[in-house]
Amino acid sequence: MSVTPAPTVDAAEVLRRQDPQLADVLLGELARQSTTLQLSAAENFTSPAVLAALGSALANKYAEGYPGARHHGGCEVVDVAERLAVDRARALFGAEHANVQSHSGSSAVLAAYAALLRPGDTVLALGLPYGGHLTHGSPANFSGRWFDFVGYGVDAETGLVDHDQVRTLARTRRPKAIVCGSIAYPRHLDYAFFREVADEVGAYLIADAAHPMGLVAGGAAPSPVPYADIVCATTHKVLRGPRGGMVLCGSELAERVDRAVFPFTQGGAQMHTIAAKAVAFGEAATADFAAYAHQVVANARVLAAGLAAEGLVVTTGGTDTHLITADPTPLGADGRTARNLLAAAGLVLDCCALPHGDARGLRLGTAAVTTQGMREAEMGRIAALLAAVVRGEVDGARARGEVRELTLGFPPYPAAHPASYPA
Ligand SMILES: *Cc1c(COP(=O)(O)O)cnc(C)c1O
Repeated sequence: MSVTPAPTVDAAEVLRRQDPQLADVLLGELARQSTTLQLSAAENFTSPAVLAALGSALANKYAEGYPGARHHGGCEVVDVAERLAVDRARALFGAEHANVQSHSGSSAVLAAYAALLRPGDTVLALGLPYGGHLTHGSPANFSGRWFDFVGYGVDAETGLVDHDQVRTLARTRRPKAIVCGSIAYPRHLDYAFFREVADEVGAYLIADAAHPMGLVAGGAAPSPVPYADIVCATTHKVLRGPRGGMVLCGSELAERVDRAVFPFTQGGAQMHTIAAKAVAFGEAATADFAAYAHQVVANARVLAAGLAAEGLVVTTGGTDTHLITADPTPLGADGRTARNLLAAAGLVLDCCALPHGDARGLRLGTAAVTTQGMREAEMGRIAALLAAVVRGEVDGARARGEVRELTLGFPPYPAAHPASYPA
């Protein structure tokens, strides 16, 4: 990451003259992110260049439609940003078509469904208790209300996707689409297997690759693009761009996907975010990013092994990706209690479902700490500290001090000196 001034510090100084309350919020959050460990599997630190695009005048521009065919005047400059984002996404992922307008990962999934399905259609997806996303059929989400979702699961022993069940459910329920992708699955998915099942029953295959897409960009995970009819993803998470979504597909679905995003499910595109996506795709195409993606996985493997050695039950026995899920019960605390103890100690992570039983587990990832420059040695320290906190061997304040000391050696925005943080 380049050592240019952190835009959040500059922005807070501009803001301070007008609105000191919000300036304190900006700097307070920067301090929190810089002095605690961001182990949430979905989070990362975008570069100062990405933040600069997000905070730019492109935020002012209305641009409904697509480059060269907008419903507003004055789009000639922002059109360049969107063309760059589309071209870079296509090249990065080897896709015939890319739509970069989705406001989020969820809106990208909504667009994929809108492009391929009608209300009431049957869709086969990983069940929510096994790591399916809300958009994979939750009754609290549009997906569960408008489609007939059938959930497949993971093997209770191995934690791996139950391929036999996927095949059986596909044959008996004849879904219009099969979704593969998860918020908590630590292993690579077998996209060729899902393609084969989809072909056998005449279903579309939608890959929701929000989590691994950054690893795909860096060549550290297999790509769903050659297999899926539509690939949805976020541009944040491991990919390290701005919060947002994208949809990739072949040329034959391009028009349907574009119409599904705008005007079917969204209005005006957010041009500052699209410019930031272009910046992030540019970064993700570099050799530095490929090295980063491989280091993310190497770090996750060491962290998973460290947690297992401390006595946590690591789902699937390890990881292929940035993501780890683990049951802390053998250390004397359930997932929720452990998460709260860890949060107080400055180790920020999430709870998740576990393949066996109703107990909640811990979900963590190495995307953010790897961006900070942490490597295998630091993963060992984090595993030991995490276990000590959950076991109650070290009190919150002392653990908090250790975390602070560790993070100060790896500032996510080096130019934002801790002296600029509010006390
Ligand atoms: C993160 C995620 C999403 C949703 O992304 P948002 O930007 O939060 O809407 C969708 N599907 C999967 C599998 C995800 O991991």
